[in-house]
Order: sequence, then structure tokens, then C-alpha cells
Amino acid sequence: MTAGADDESTTLSPDDAFAVLANETRFEIVRALWELYEPEDPANVVKFSNLYDADIGITFSELYEQVGYEDSGNFNYHLEQLTDHFVRRTESGYELTEAGFEVARSVVAGTVRERPRFDTVEIDERCPQCGAPVVVDYENHHVTASCSQCTGIWQDADGDDGVLFTFPFPPTGLSDRTPEEAFHAVLGYNLQRIRSFVDGVCPDCSGEVDESFDVCATHEPDDGGGCQHCHRQHRTEVAERCNRCKSVVRGPLTIAILTHPAVTAFYYDHGVDHRFASWETFRLAGAVEEAVLETDPVRIRVTVPCEGESLELAVDEERSVVDAVVEPFTGRN
Ligand SMILES: [Zn+2]
Ligand SMILES: [Zn+2]
Ligand SMILES: [Zn+2]
Repeated sequence: MTAGADDESTTLSPDDAFAVLANETRFEIVRALWELYEPEDPANVVKFSNLYDADIGITFSELYEQVGYEDSGNFNYHLEQLTDHFVRRTESGYELTEAGFEVARSVVAGTVRERPRFDTVEIDERCPQCGAPVVVDYENHHVTASCSQCTGIWQDADGDDGVLFTFPFPPTGLSDRTPEEAFHAVLGYNLQRIRSFVDGVCPDCSGEVDESFDVCATHEPDDGGGCQHCHRQHRTEVAERCNRCKSVVRGPLTIAILTHPAVTAFYYDHGVDHRFASWETFRLAGAVEEAVLETDPVRIRVTVPCEGESLELAVDEERSVVDAVVEPFTGRN
């Protein structure tokens, strides 16, 4: 992005930042600058490529007119309050800083004119467990995909099973998408985020991620419910946590392992063009098997089958792949 090392927008404390934005006029100024911003404007394209410092500010009168405020003296005061952190003064006018864009984008992503929703609807995808049609619904900013027949992979918060996944999705993601398109978009959006976590970069704040890897020593899952020791269906759990913004994701090793380059290469060699951030990850994960060979120190064998062969991965307590060999697939172990 274009924010440089001399960007003065880094110096405001969070308390001050909230205080500055807790005013309707200032908020409208940020929104107006965002509405008047044209990414396709040739000057913006040039500026983005950093060829030279193009001056593309919105003039005071343009901005004043867009916001539709009555008192120009008072308007100027509010504009000054935003300047440096959320708004930058250019030679010809004003523009949003990166912090200003972040505010505008999060508001745009979280609010749409109509409250989008859809009731439970069947889509043209099949449950990886049993082959029955998948149904999706959207509630409280989350998309849930479930199997119409079997117990799925998880229980939802109400203890109902059949769930294949529940992922957060901003309302903007539903605008102009059919439930089926939303289903694929929610997977792309969230699996990209998971991939970023697995790669050690928080997708929400760019902070450093701590990973913990837990293997239940005495795993006893009951039908449909969780294990009485770890309260999970799956024996291994990878948890990624950002220590800065407390963003967290958790999931079984059989999903996280699909980001490993040895797996991508194995699939590719068998004619499967696997993209992690897609529904294919869920379909393939259903066939991935894990076997805990030892618990102290932890040693897990993960078997990834494809086209009559299997990739056998040895995973240690750090979740590092310490060995990878391809063998003829001999079925369940
Ligand atoms: Zn099913
Ligand atoms: Zn974070
Ligand atoms: Zn357990």
C-alpha cells in the first residue's frame, strides 16, 4: 500500500481514536471521503504503483458538499480533528489514510441496506461423509452448512448435529450472491484466513500467531457427542491464537495438514489441482486418516489417500512433518 514510513497516522492511542470517531459529523466525513474515492482514477492507479507522489485530494468544497453540513466553520473543526490519523491533507485537498480506509471498509463490510438472510436451503453439493445433499443457512453473521441426512462432522452451539461447518461471514458477502455462491465464498474467505494463521500471520491484525497442538491421550468420543476428556470429536486439535487481537481458530490436524506442500504435490502428481481455500479441502479431509502412534513424545501418522496410493506423513509434537513417503494405499489402518 501507499502508507510510507513517515505516516503520522501511527501515533494516536486507541482511546483517542475512538473519541475522534465518536461523532456523527466526523464519521460522515470519513464516509464521504470513501464515497468520493475512485480506485480506477488514473491518478490513484499511478499513486498506488508509487511511481511518483500524485496529488489526488478531494477539495474542501467537494467534501463539504458531499457531507451536506450546515456550518462550514464547525465542519472545518471536525475535519481538523480527523486530520493526521484518519485523514491526510494533500496539496489540493484531503484523502483517507490507511487507518481511515480501515474504518470505512469495516463499516461497509458490516452494514448493508437490507438485512441479508436466507432460510435453510439445499444446494448442489454433497456431504463428504454420506453423499446426501448439503443444506446451508445464514444467521447472526454466520453461514452454517449441514448434511441433510447424517450426523455431519460437528455439533452446533445448540447441540444439534449434522453440521459440516459454521463460519463467520460479513453481510456484504451475501449481497448479489445465491446461497450456493455464498457457500463457496464463505469457504474461500475463511480458509484463506486459516491459511494465514497456519503461516503465522494473524489475518485480522497482522500480529504474530502462537500455535498449540493438542493430542488427547485417552480419547473416547461417544456417538455424536464429544470425548469426556477433551470434549471434541477429533483426537488432535490445532489451535492458532493471535496474542495481539485475540483472534483464534481451532480445527483438526486432518484439515491443517492439507496446507502442507507435500500434500499439494502429492495431489498434483495424481491429477488433483487442490486449492486449500475451497470446498475440496472439506471433501478431501474426510478421507484423511490419522493414527496416534505414540503420545510421549507425540508421533502421529497421517494417511492421505488418492488414486490407489497414499501419502504417509509422520508428524511430531510441534506439528512438523518429519517424514513423507508415498505407498500403495491399503485401506483403513
Ligand atoms: Zn452426510
Ligand atoms: Zn491479530
Ligand atoms: Zn479426547
